[in-house]
Amino acid sequence: MAKKKKKKKSGLGGKLLGLLLALALAAGAFQLGWHFGAQSTRFTGNILLVNEAHPLPADYVPEALVNLYEQRHSFRMASSEIYLTRETYEAMERMFHAAEEAGMNGYIVTSGYRSYERQAEVYAENGAGKAQKPGASEHQTGLAFDVTVETSAGFESTPQYGWLITHAHEYGFIQRYPANKADITGISYEPWHYRYVGVEAATRMRQTGQTLEEFVESMG
Ligand SMILES: [Zn+2]
Repeated sequence: MAKKKKKKKSGLGGKLLGLLLALALAAGAFQLGWHFGAQSTRFTGNILLVNEAHPLPADYVPEALVNLYEQRHSFRMASSEIYLTRETYEAMERMFHAAEEAGMNGYIVTSGYRSYERQAEVYAENGAGKAQKPGASEHQTGLAFDVTVETSAGFESTPQYGWLITHAHEYGFIQRYPANKADITGISYEPWHYRYVGVEAATRMRQTGQTLEEFVESMG
């Protein structure tokens, strides 16, 4: 009888614990929703959504762009003229420094901020389907970069890619265009394109498997 009673008690304890966990999760979600809701004003914040349906104006230039080449960098660069927002650069430097410590070397950053005018040139050179229309490229946000390594096989088959896809969210980055989400993002698989959204949002998207489109929608 005593044993039975004890069991019952621990069952109740488990239920209470579950309830507390659910409450904590709900509070966390509420806080997250409020936080991102406040941040989701168009054209501001790290979860800024840019795609063909949500283009940036021609005169949108992010604040506080830094030239990566002039900063301490644990990665290589395809050019000495690659710019990102300071916050994005600092997170990316932490990430590639950690990668280096884990024995992952040779990352080459090939592209960062791209102005509306530059994107118009890229679009004219490559054409629809191969490049984003001016205003519709995430590169205009200064929050996105492209990366690769020297490989004949394709970046997605390298261990450096494996490390990045596993750890990017810990530094606030998401792989913006996954292979199985082209119907939602409107962009086919881009293993090289990473987007800064902040650690909280990136971790959340990692847990839920959401794209930025789905995440922003779920935040209302
Ligand atoms: Zn890109």
